[in-house]
Amino acid sequence: MKLSEKAEDIIERLWIEVEEEGGAFLDPETMGLAAEAESVRELTSNALIELRNGMLYIRPEGREVGRMTVRRHRLAERLMMDVLNLRDETGQQKVCQFEHLLTEGVDTKICTMLNHPTTCPHGKPIPPGECCLEARRSGDLGVVPLTECKSGQEGEIAYIQTDDSKKMQKLMAMGVLPGNRILLTQAFPSYIFKVGFSEFAIDTALAREIFVRKL
Ligand SMILES: [Zn+2]
Ligand SMILES: [Zn+2]
Repeated sequence: MKLSEKAEDIIERLWIEVEEEGGAFLDPETMGLAAEAESVRELTSNALIELRNGMLYIRPEGREVGRMTVRRHRLAERLMMDVLNLRDETGQQKVCQFEHLLTEGVDTKICTMLNHPTTCPHGKPIPPGECCLEARRSGDLGVVPLTECKSGQEGEIAYIQTDDSKKMQKLMAMGVLPGNRILLTQAFPSYIFKVGFSEFAIDTALAREIFVRKL
């Protein structure tokens, strides 16, 4: 079943409301929708949601679809922000377009390329896919925060997890960018690392936001 983009947006919003925000239903009006909108009908006719007293309820069959839609959205965010470095409004718009292109299989490839990230750049959990569970089972999860590396350890920067653009700029100015090599030379009392030929010192809070693929 391939849903329209509008229908995907609704089920995504509804899943977040019920699974993460403690709500039970969604008022279609808050999404600027009429209860008889075509996208709503698309979801009810596929038995993914239910319309009761004019409110939208997610059905058990809809939960998995909602979960996977949220997963694609948050993976798209990671890709846009960490790899393509699109952090402004256009980036957010592109996320919203791009998530609908991440069909089955493509999301797995991107997830694997990003090394099965567990959170989006805003700190929200990314619902794990089969690929993530498999990687966890086989212990193939090589990405850890810099704070979990030992001094003398070398790795490749996988992604930066911060939504603070000042911190991001500071790190980028140091050359802390996905794909670059990083060598931790000291882990206490502050973190000292080498990127290229330069050496930098940062505090624990910042070190926790740098994710490294151990080599
Ligand atoms: Zn997010
Ligand atoms: Zn994965």
